[in-house]
Amino acid sequence: MKINFYNTLTKKKEEFKPINEDKVCMYSCGPTVYYYPHIGNLRAYLFMDSLRRTLKYNGYELKHVMNITDVGHLVSDADDGEDKMMKAAKRENKNPFEIADFYTNVFLQDLKKLNIDMPEIIARATQHIKCMEEYVKKIIANGYTYETEDTIYFDTSKLDKYGVLSNKDVKEEDLEARIEVDPNKKHPNDFAVWFRAPENHLMKWDTFWGKCYPGWHLECSAMGHEYLGEEFDIHTGGIDHIPVHHENEIAQAKGYCGKIPAHYWMHVEFLQVDGRKMSKSLNNLYTIDQLNDMGYEPAVFRMFNIGAHYKKQINFTIDAMDAAKTALARLREGYLKHKEGTAEINNNVIDEYENKFHEAINDDLNMPVAMSVVWEVIKNPSKSKQFAKLIDKFDTVMGFNLKEYVPETQELPEEIISLVNQRNEARKNKDWAESDRLRDELISRGYSVKDSKEGTIIEKK
Ligand code: AMP
Ligand code: ZN
Repeated sequence: MKINFYNTLTKKKEEFKPINEDKVCMYSCGPTVYYYPHIGNLRAYLFMDSLRRTLKYNGYELKHVMNITDVGHLVSDADDGEDKMMKAAKRENKNPFEIADFYTNVFLQDLKKLNIDMPEIIARATQHIKCMEEYVKKIIANGYTYETEDTIYFDTSKLDKYGVLSNKDVKEEDLEARIEVDPNKKHPNDFAVWFRAPENHLMKWDTFWGKCYPGWHLECSAMGHEYLGEEFDIHTGGIDHIPVHHENEIAQAKGYCGKIPAHYWMHVEFLQVDGRKMSKSLNNLYTIDQLNDMGYEPAVFRMFNIGAHYKKQINFTIDAMDAAKTALARLREGYLKHKEGTAEINNNVIDEYENKFHEAINDDLNMPVAMSVVWEVIKNPSKSKQFAKLIDKFDTVMGFNLKEYVPETQELPEEIISLVNQRNEARKNKDWAESDRLRDELISRGYSVKDSKEGTIIEKK
C-alpha cells in the first residue's frame, strides 16, 4: 500500500519512495542532555516512534540514527549565550560529562517507560568529535567558511539559496538589527560551525584549530553523514528546528557535498500546557515521572498523544489526561474480552478493518483515525480471538503493549473471601434467601457481585 508523508521541504504530502526498496534510512534530532526531558520533548519522540512503527508495519527494515547532544548547544539556537552543558554543570556543581551521563540516562529511561521503539543507532556527540572534525575540514576546504578570532562561521552567501525549508526572506532592517547582535558575522544567517574553547571551557578537544568544540548544527550533519552517507530518506525533529537548526544542517551538507541530505523532512508540532508554552518560569513543566506520581502511567500519556495528528498542536490538560486514562482502561478491558471470546468472524470483516487501519497510518501517520478503527474492533459486540489477534497487529503501531498487559489481581480481605465462600455454599444448597443476604452484605462492603457457572464473581467498586 502507498505511504504518503507531508514533506516540509516541498510543503506538500507526497508519496514516500525510499532510496532502497526495502530499507529506510533516517535521522532524528535527539535531545540536548542538560535537564529532565519534559512531556513536550517526549511528544517529539512519540512521533518518531509512530513513524518507525508505521514503516515497520509496511515491511521496511530500518537504519535510524538519533543523536544525543552532550556538547556545543548554546543557550540560544543561534550562536549566543553559554553552552547549555556548561550552564547545567555550574547549576549542579558537577562536571559537564557527569551532567551528560546523568541526563542521557534519564532520557533513555523515559523512552523505555513510554515503550518507544528505539533507533538502531544512538550517537553521542562527544564520542564523534573526530568525524565532526573531518566533516568541518572539508567544508572549510570547499570554501564555505570564514574565521574570526575564536569561531569558524559558515558563509551562507556562498550557497545558491539559504532557507529552503522555511523559505527565508530576511528583511533589510532585521538584517541590520541582527548584525548588531553579533558583529563578527558577515550576514545574520551565517552560523558557527567550530569554536575555539576559552581557557575555562571544560568540554574541548585537540583539533586542527587548537582546543575546540563543535557547533551544534555541525554535530547532526557529521553524525548523519557518518552512519547514513550523503543522502538518506527521512530527517525528523520538532517544528522549532525548521528555521535554524535544519536550515543550517542543509547548508552544511551543501557545503560538504552539494546535496540536501534527506529527501523527506518531517516535523512534529508543539505540545502546550493549558494553552500556554511549557516553560520553567510558568511552572508548567511536567516530566513523565511527575505524571506517574499524579496517577497517570506513561501509557496514558501515549494514549493522550495519539488523540492528535502530529502536525497539530496539542493542549495538555488534566481533563484530557483523565479522559485518556479512562480510554486506556477501556482498551485493555475490551482487548481481554476479545481474547476470551469464542465468536467466529468472517475473514472479510477482518480484512476490512485491517485495510482501514493501514490506510490511516499510511496517510501521513493519521493516528487518531487509526485509533478510531481500533475502537471499532474493540466495541464489536461479537467477542472473538480473531479480533484480539487483529488488535495485537494494530498494537505493533499503537504501542500499548497489550499482549503483556496483566490486570492487577485483587488482594481480597479474609472476611470477604469467607462471605463469598458462604454464598457459594448457600447457592449450592438453593438457600436463596441466605444467598441474597450475603450478596447485599458484599455490596454494602463496596463490592459488585455477579453470578457465573463457576460461582460468585466480585469486584471492588
Ligand atoms: P531539545 O533538547 O531542546 O533540542 O529538544 C528535543 C526535542 O523536543 C526537539 O526535537 C524539539 O523540537 C522538541 N520539543 C521541544 N519542546 C517541545 C514541545 N513543547 N512540544 C513538542 N516538541 C518539543
Ligand atoms: Zn539535529
